[in-house]
Amino acid sequence: MTMKYLLVIVVVWLAFIIWRNNRRREVEQRPAPPPAAGKTLGAPQAMVRCAHCGLHLPATDALPGKDDKVYCSAAHRQADQ
Ligand SMILES: [Zn+2]
Repeated sequence: MTMKYLLVIVVVWLAFIIWRNNRRREVEQRPAPPPAAGKTLGAPQAMVRCAHCGLHLPATDALPGKDDKVYCSAAHRQADQ
């Protein structure tokens, strides 16, 4: 009885591995997704650190300062200069 269950588990597990490999191959063969799709899914963004308070924020929201420093707000940029 136990062996039978074990066999079922192994078969299901193997089926899952094969299914996953096929899925991965499909994804690799598929052309790169359009840029719009990446935005809605929240593509990994570069995070930067405010040079004044140390807050981490997306690079797109950061304010550039002197010496390649970035700031979370105009107030912190002013405070650091
Ligand atoms: Zn700050």
